[in-house]
Parts: sequence; C-alpha cells; structure tokens
Amino acid sequence: MTLMEIIIIFTLKLLTELVLMFSVLLVFIIIYLIYCIFSIQHSLFIRSLCRVKTTEKIVFLSFDDGPSSQFTAEILDELKRRDIKAVFFCIGNHAESSPGLVKRIVEEGHLIGNHTYSHDWALTLKSSHEFENELEKAETAIKSIIGREVNLFRPPFGVTNPSIAKAVKKRNLLSIGWDIRSLDTVITDPDKLRRRIIRKLRPGSIILLHDNRCITSLILSELIDDIESNGYKIVPLKPYLSLN
Ligand SMILES: [Zn+2]
Repeated sequence: MTLMEIIIIFTLKLLTELVLMFSVLLVFIIIYLIYCIFSIQHSLFIRSLCRVKTTEKIVFLSFDDGPSSQFTAEILDELKRRDIKAVFFCIGNHAESSPGLVKRIVEEGHLIGNHTYSHDWALTLKSSHEFENELEKAETAIKSIIGREVNLFRPPFGVTNPSIAKAVKKRNLLSIGWDIRSLDTVITDPDKLRRRIIRKLRPGSIILLHDNRCITSLILSELIDDIESNGYKIVPLKPYLSLN
C-alpha cells in the first residue's frame, strides 16, 4: 500500500466518522428543539413564568379555554365562596359568546389573560404575523368587555416556537405557563385527577386547569380542601408577576 493510498483511506475514515458524529448531533438538536416546542417550562423561545420562586407553601390556580357557559359560573361561585383569586386565560371567541362571565371574572378580582382568539391547533404552524392577528383579535374581544388591555398570555397547548415568540414580544405580552399540568382534559376519574395534582405540589406551583371541563368544576371544592390540608395556601398571582 502506497503512502497516498494510506492517506486517502485515513481521510475517508475520518470523514465518515465526522459525518456520523454530525448526524447524531443534528438528530439530538432536532429532538431537543421539538421537545422545547412542546415544553413551555424550558422557555427556549418565550420566557414564561411557570412557577414562582419561593420557599413559602403557596400555589396558584389558573383556568384555560373559557369562559364556558356551562362551567365557568360554578367555578367562579366556588372561588368566591372560598375567597380565592385565580387567573383565567380566555379564548377570544368564547369571550365574545359570554361577555357576562368575562366581566364577572374581572369584577371578582381574578386576573384575565389572552389565550388567542380561536385556539386552533393549526395556529402553531402560522407565521408570526398571522399569530399576532389572533392575539390582537382576542385582545380586542376582551378589551371591549372589560374596558382595558390584557397583558398576560398563555399559549394554546403550551406550544411555543420562534413565530409565536415574535408575535408575543411584539404585542408586549407576559407569557404564563405552569408547572403542574392537571390533565383535566384527559383524566376522567375525579380522585385520580386530584391525587395527580396533590402529588405534584411544591412551593410556588402554578396549576393548569380548564374552566370548560365538567370534571374540573366537580373536583374544585375537594381539590382546594386537599391543597389546604397539605399545608398550602392558594394566593393571587398578581403580586408575584413583577418579582419573577
Ligand atoms: Zn387552551
């Protein structure tokens, strides 16, 4: 074997290994990016408040996808009875259908946030301009009812990407995530649902619930009891927004 042949073989081997290493790295990067798109806690694209940094045994309730003419009123009744303030991330077109509930949410001291106008799954594939239109439309719907701007946002399905990030930044919204996904849209057993939430409690947790779900309205009173009997207090999120 000549020196030239040895050099060629060595170079080819080196190149093959480099291509292999690069491919493996690329696959890992792609998997990581996909994971971050679906994991709001990573805050890779948008910095989201998913948990308040504290050692105090306090937690926060948040309700998405309402207002619902079927369940939001019951949920508001229970929160009022227990003197608990929560955050409601409303869908713009639901707000238009139930303006009375939107008003009630605000009048009873809860925070309200933008959860897009349509909550369409395909929104995650839209351009930043199209996503911004969705945000603007929802904001207009809510603002026309409560008479002021909304500056909180929660991405539908917790999905974020560079287009959504750009639109949210442009509209100057503060993104709020969660660190406890209750799965109240999936779990059908009330006890299992409550146990799942209680198991995940930690100081500063933001709990994701849905006020358009029967099961959520059904378990709320007992869930509050469970949270409190575990030594946690449910407090309003507002004072912690500027601190985190
Ligand atoms: Zn949602």
